[in-house]
Amino acid sequence: MPKATETLLEIDLNALRHNYNYLSSKVDKNTKMLAVVKAFGYGSESVAIANELATLGVAYFGVAYAGEGETLRNAGIETPILVLHPLPVNFDLIVNRCMEPSVYSHKILKDFINYAESQKQHNYPIHLKFNTGLNRLGFRKEDIPKIIETLSRTESVSVKSVFSHLAASEDEAERNFTIAQIDEFRNISEAIIRQLGYKPLLHTVNTSGILNYPEAQFDMVRTGIGLYGFGNNPSENINLKPVATLKTVISQIHTIKEGENVGYNMGFKARETTRTATLPIGHADGISRAFGKGVGWVLINGAKAPIVGNVCMDMIMVDITHISCEEGDEAIVFGETSTAETLSEAINSIPYELLTAISQRVKRVVCRK
Ligand SMILES: *Cc1c(COP(=O)(O)O)cnc(C)c1O
Repeated sequence: MPKATETLLEIDLNALRHNYNYLSSKVDKNTKMLAVVKAFGYGSESVAIANELATLGVAYFGVAYAGEGETLRNAGIETPILVLHPLPVNFDLIVNRCMEPSVYSHKILKDFINYAESQKQHNYPIHLKFNTGLNRLGFRKEDIPKIIETLSRTESVSVKSVFSHLAASEDEAERNFTIAQIDEFRNISEAIIRQLGYKPLLHTVNTSGILNYPEAQFDMVRTGIGLYGFGNNPSENINLKPVATLKTVISQIHTIKEGENVGYNMGFKARETTRTATLPIGHADGISRAFGKGVGWVLINGAKAPIVGNVCMDMIMVDITHISCEEGDEAIVFGETSTAETLSEAINSIPYELLTAISQRVKRVVCRK
């Protein structure tokens, strides 16, 4: 790639392809892959990501909200789309664009059936979401008789899949809890299949579930963060490649004399002569204020330049006293060597949050490295 001349998020489709192939190698060849592309493809570029994954043969896409699926449909993507968190106000959009809702409560089940009947739908695919311990969205096992009764009174919908979501699949210390979730999911699935009289697809694992609970892959797996290059574990991260690289450029270099300040509210006071570089990226681009005052850093010519003072809305200043560089040089915020995971850990966060925080102001460049 040429050196960045402005703030850019590079999206490497070859890294995506590598991660997809690696995750596929961990999954039984008869098990389908659902690629989670919510939140702009974990902050990258959902259409480019989805197009590449469609050519790789992914069975399903998962989005959180209907509008995210609409973006994929507008781009011509025809793969089935599971909307993980549909809201009744979006049923029109969901059905018009052939998306498939997750149904997680009696209210949403009734509301969707009413809508589907009003549209004269027949066997419209829905996905029943069960709560097995995350306590976020989902029916409970006790709800099964009432679900079956409701479903028996309509032909408007049919159950395409039954699924649940693990609460701590990346956490070895919670292995017993996760195994209990998987057992509960298996019991629920068996009861549903018995009472429905047909067999929907079953799925419960996310990326860390694929890697840590291979016995729980059922008919489909849902992978998000792994596709983007992170396995929630150093021994898995080495098998994956970060898809996104956030780059920027040095706009101006200052020599700060002892006793002078840098940035708003005197966030930095020079105790000795200090050289700083001002970069065109700030909290409005997704660089949290928590990275200020030396907590976060960028790489310039391979060396770590800590952020000095407070993060501004549109800029940061970094310490380059010991780095040989000049105005116009490139700075790497995160990428392959200094990763989004390491940087996020500096503020007790996770790559999921740092990646999805990169705002839409940052230009996306899709490439193959
Ligand atoms: C976001 C999400 C996933 C993807 O999880 P990763 O840890 O990114 O693989 C899977 N399933 C559901 C229900 C989700 O909300």
